[in-house]
Order: sequence, then structure tokens, then C-alpha cells
Amino acid sequence: MTQKTGGLLARVLAAFPAGPNSYPVRNPATGSVIAQVANVGNAQAVTEAVERAALVHPHNSADRKAMLARWYSLFLLHIDDLAHIATLESGKPLAEAKGEVQYAASYIKYYADLEIAGKTIISPHSLNKTRLWTVKQPVGPCALITPWNFPYAMAVRKISPAIAAGNACILKPAPETPLSAFAMKLLANDAGIPDDAFQILSADRQNAVDVVGKVLMADTRIRKVSFTGSTNAGISLMQQAATTMKKASMELGGNAPLIIFEDADLNQAVDGCMFGKFRNAGQACIAVNRIYIHSKIHNEFVSKLAEKIKILRVGDGLNNKTTVGPLITKTSVDRVAALVSSSLESGAQLVFQSSLSNELQASGGYFYPPTLLTNVTDDMEIFKTEIFGPVAAVSTFDTEEDVVRRANDTPFGLAAYLFTNDIARLHRVAENLEAGMVGLNECAISAAVAPFGGVKMSGIGREGSSEGIEEYLETKYLCLAV
Ligand code: ADP
Repeated sequence: MTQKTGGLLARVLAAFPAGPNSYPVRNPATGSVIAQVANVGNAQAVTEAVERAALVHPHNSADRKAMLARWYSLFLLHIDDLAHIATLESGKPLAEAKGEVQYAASYIKYYADLEIAGKTIISPHSLNKTRLWTVKQPVGPCALITPWNFPYAMAVRKISPAIAAGNACILKPAPETPLSAFAMKLLANDAGIPDDAFQILSADRQNAVDVVGKVLMADTRIRKVSFTGSTNAGISLMQQAATTMKKASMELGGNAPLIIFEDADLNQAVDGCMFGKFRNAGQACIAVNRIYIHSKIHNEFVSKLAEKIKILRVGDGLNNKTTVGPLITKTSVDRVAALVSSSLESGAQLVFQSSLSNELQASGGYFYPPTLLTNVTDDMEIFKTEIFGPVAAVSTFDTEEDVVRRANDTPFGLAAYLFTNDIARLHRVAENLEAGMVGLNECAISAAVAPFGGVKMSGIGREGSSEGIEEYLETKYLCLAV
């Protein structure tokens, strides 16, 4: 087992040389290049990876469990180095990066421990002349495509069930965060997971779509695609996967409402909102996007929220005092700025916006200041799209019926949150919200033991929990005459 050295990034760079065709990975806090990595741009390299994946021996389940258990230990052993790498390339504050490493590790542990079992079925045939049962088998080589916002967690919650179920997998990490992926692979190999059972194809944005995605989706040997990212990319991947009838899981965009009723515990709601909105600078698919406050408590809520936003510290995630890091790219900053401007032009009110220090403005980093808007209406673009930035957009409501209708009036249905102390209303509203996950007086809902996923245009399938392993298994039915 590798000992912690503090030099994981150096090992990663040595183990995964960029080669002749490369692209730069940038630190979003400075805009500077951290490393050059391989840019897979020819179809042959992708096909060769599939060939290797198709030849992987699945081992037995006990061996796989042991490998995953060792990988879990190595993840925790290297938590500081892993967090440092994620902060460098994704920008998130170190404390959040460490939290993500622990969260990712919890999926490995969960799937290392999970038992996979079929079932026996009572025979329906006359004279009880048959025996019926099912066995669970690996689905086959898997293509896993992940985003940059949680570079470890989004990948690990695919890789660990894929491997636990007996599959080989090929990960196409986000172009912005390949180093986290390479670091995971290094530790996986140290843990005994065979090189070909977990491969990585890194590529820039163009090659990811035109070469890696295209070839993986067209190859009949890839039997499963699991994707986390935007709805448009998910639609394209599902269309491509359909031609080879792959099993598909899609965890796509959200537009989470946060509904706060007049009987809620206001301090609890403000704390929930701060976590749900500002974690990872708002760059999460389950981030609070539309804040609906009962009009009776609007002013009090807004002033409490503003006080909390004022103490956020924007900066380089490597600085321990930072609570809000940069956004992932300059394009993201421009997008969020445009959303805020168009809201203000349409009548939203700017209650508070932090100012960026001269030092940050001169840093070359992709910073956007935490912002609080009120008077936001449902027709504004900021309520129709994922903000993916540190902007709290607030609207009011008067009746339960009205707010549930408005909360559901979106093509998306990933997460929703509600705060109330009325137990009957809590059940009623939770059941009426069109979302795959509902946080009740709570915005920190993610857990390896819980099924994560959405409805409507937010995707299909679930990750985590026992549901998550089914996505990587086929059920074979057997019927025996006796
Ligand atoms: P973002 O705009 O944040 O990059 P995307 O949904 O476009 O979000 O991308 C998420 C991940 O999916 C990234 O790793 C990206 O490279 C990958 N991706 C997007 N579209 C495709 C595609 N057609 N084929 C393969 N990978 C894709």
C-alpha cells in the first residue's frame, strides 16, 4: 500500500504523461496552466481502450470487494493531496474539497459492502414442475462521463458500483478536471484494481464530443453509459446510445426550488439556503435555484440572508479563509453576470453584492461576487435556467397551491427543498413536488446510502444506494424443469 507522501500530484504527472497531443488544464483561481494532459483525438485509441475493457476478467465478488475496500482506505489516506488537486483544478475551497473526498469515499465503502443477489420465485406452473429464479450479472463494459463540479464524487459514484458489479469501465472526465481523475486511477491501481478495469480517456471539449463520446457510443461492446452533466449533452448521448441499445443513466440539469413557508424556523431556513445556494459557489446540479418565500416573512428572511452573505469570503480555494472560490471558467462568469444584468433590467432588485478586492480582480481568476436579488419573477431567465453561480434569487408567494404550481412549472425535476413546521403540509407538498429528491427542513441531502437522481428533463436512473448498483447489472431469469 502506498504511503502518504504529499507528492500525489507529482506522481500523477509522472504516471500520466501528456504525450504529443495535449491540452492545458488551468487553475480557475489564477487562470494559469497547472499541467498539460493527454488529449485523446483519434478513434483508434478509443477503440483500443474498449478492446482492453472487453477482455477484463471480472474476478470474483470477494476479490472486487477487497480491491474496493483498499481503494477506500487509500482515498482517506490521501485526503489532503486529493483535496489539493481538486482545489487546484476546480477552484473549490479546500475544506469543501476535503468534504468531497470523504463523500466520494463513502460510495466506495457502500458498494464494497453491498451484497448483490437475485431472487427465487414460486412456480406458477401446474404440479409445481418448475423452479424459477434470477441471477444478477455484470451489464458489460461501461462508459462513464462526468462533469467538473465534483470531480471525485461524480466519478466514484459510477466507478465503484460498476466495478462492484463486475464490469470494466472507461471514464471520460471533464476537460477541466482530469487530474483528479488520474489521481483516483493511480490509487485504484495501487489498491489492485486492474489497469484495464478502470481506464481514463482525457480529452478537450471538442475531442470529448467528436471522438471519445462518438466512438464509445457507437461501439456495441460498451453496454452501459452513465452520464452526469447538462440536459442537452444528455439528450445527445442518449440518442447515440440508442443505436447500440445501451443501458443509460442520465443525471442532468436541475432548477431546484426552495420554498419557505410562514411557519418555518427562519434561522434553520437561512442556514439551509446558505448551504444549498453557496456550496461550490453555487455550481451544483442540486443547488438552490429559485427561492420562494412566503410574503409575510420575506423582509425578515432577506435581511437575515443578506447578513450571512456579507460574511462570505471570496478567494483562491487554497486560502483557508476562503468560503467561495472562483467559477470554473471565464465563460461561466460572463454567463452569471449576464443573468444578473438581465434580471435587473426586468425589474429585479439588487439587495447586496460583495465587492471583489483589487487583488482578486488582478488575479486572472474567474471570480464572481456573491449576490442577493429580490423581486425576481418566474418569467425571468434566472428562474428558468441553472444559475451555476453564487447568486441568490428571491421571489414571494402567498398560497401553498400557487407555490407548488410555480415550483413544478419547469421542465426539470432534480431536487426541491421546503421548510415548514406544519407536518401535514410537509407531507402534502413533498408528495406534490415533481422532483427526484426533496429536502425537508434540510438542504444537505446527498448520501451514498440514498438514491440520487431526477425526473422529467433532469434525467433517468438513480445513483447511490441499492438502486445505484442495478444500473450496472442485468437480471437473468432461469427456469428449470424438475
Ligand atoms: P459543461 O458545460 O459543464 O461542460 P456538459 O454537459 O457539456 O457540461 O459536459 C459534462 C461532461 O460531459 C464533460 O465531461 C463533457 O466533456 C462531456 N460531454 C458532453 N457532451 C458529450 C458528448 N456528446 N460526448 C462525450 N462527452 C460529452
